[in-house]
Amino acid sequence: MASVTVEAPAKLNLTLDVLGKREDGYHEMKMVMQSVSLADTLTLEQTPGEGIALFSNLSFLPTDGRNLAVVAAREFEKAAGCKMGHLEIRIQKRIPVCAGTAGGSSDAAAVLRGLNELIGRRFSLVQLAGIGRGVGSDVPYCVLGGTALAEGRGELITPLPQLPACWVVMAKPGFSISTPELFAQFDGKKTRCRPNTEGVLTALEGGDLGGVARRMFNVFEEVLPFRKRERVEELKCLLLDHGALGACMTGTGPTVFGLFSEEAAAWEAYQELKNHCRDTFLTQALGSQN
Ligand code: ATP
Repeated sequence: MASVTVEAPAKLNLTLDVLGKREDGYHEMKMVMQSVSLADTLTLEQTPGEGIALFSNLSFLPTDGRNLAVVAAREFEKAAGCKMGHLEIRIQKRIPVCAGTAGGSSDAAAVLRGLNELIGRRFSLVQLAGIGRGVGSDVPYCVLGGTALAEGRGELITPLPQLPACWVVMAKPGFSISTPELFAQFDGKKTRCRPNTEGVLTALEGGDLGGVARRMFNVFEEVLPFRKRERVEELKCLLLDHGALGACMTGTGPTVFGLFSEEAAAWEAYQELKNHCRDTFLTQALGSQN
C-alpha cells in the first residue's frame, strides 16, 4: 500500500482581463494569478484492485466523475499508460466552494502531483501541467502555482517573478455569481476599464508589492449585478480602511481579498471582515511548486 499527502492551495487573480470572444466560443483571457497558503489537503492511497473512491468533509460535493479530482486521476492514468490500482482520494476541503478561488482545479492539480509522486516523478511539473489541460483551464496554473501569467482560456502559463512576501485577507460574501451570466454581461458592455497588466508585470520585476497591489483589477467587478457590486465594493473599502495596499475580487467572484505588508494590520482587517463574512481567512502569498 502506498500513500501520499498533498496540499492544494487556493488561487487569487491579481488581475483579470477578458480580451475578447474567440471563434471557438471561449473567451481570450489575460490574468496574473497568485497562490496562497489557504489550502485543501488531499491524501491519495493506492491499494491492489481497481476503481477510484473519493471522500470529502463536505457532504454536498460530488464524489463521482463530476469531481475534478476523479477526472484528474483518470487523465493521469491515460497519460501514464498504467492503472493506479484501487485509488482512495480523501479531500479535507478548506477552500470555499464556488468562490472564484479555483478550489476544484487545485484539488485536480494536487491529484496529478500526488500520483506523479507515487510513480516516482515520471513527469516534470510542466508535463503535469500539460496533462492538467485535459481536466480544466485553471488546472495547469494550479499544478505550477506561485505567481504566473495565464493566457488563452487560462491554460497557457508563463511563470513570473514571485510576489514579494505579504499577508492576504480573503472574504467570501454569502451570495453566488453565475459565471456564464457574468461573461454574457461582459460581452454586452461597450466601455470598459481594463487592468494595467503590463504595469503589474513591471512592478513584479521590481519587487514592488505596493505597485502590484495598487494596480490589481478584475473586469468582472464592473458587470456584477448592482447589489452584489455594492457588497463587493463595501468589502474592498473595509480592507483598504484597515491598511490593505490594494483590494480586488478574484475570478468570477464573489471572494474579495486585500494584500498587506504588515501582519498586525492584516490581523485587524481579518477580525473586522469576520464580522461581515463567515468565510474570512488570513493567509499568505506562496511561491511556485517545485
Ligand atoms: P474557479 O475559480 O476555477 O472558477 P470556483 O472557486 O469558482 O472555481 P470551485 O470551488 O472550484 O469553484 O467549484 C465549482 C464547481 O465544481 C462546484 O459546482 C463543485 O461542485 C464542482 N467541483 C468538482 N470537483 C470539486 C472539488 N474537488 N472541489 C470543489 N468543487 C468541485
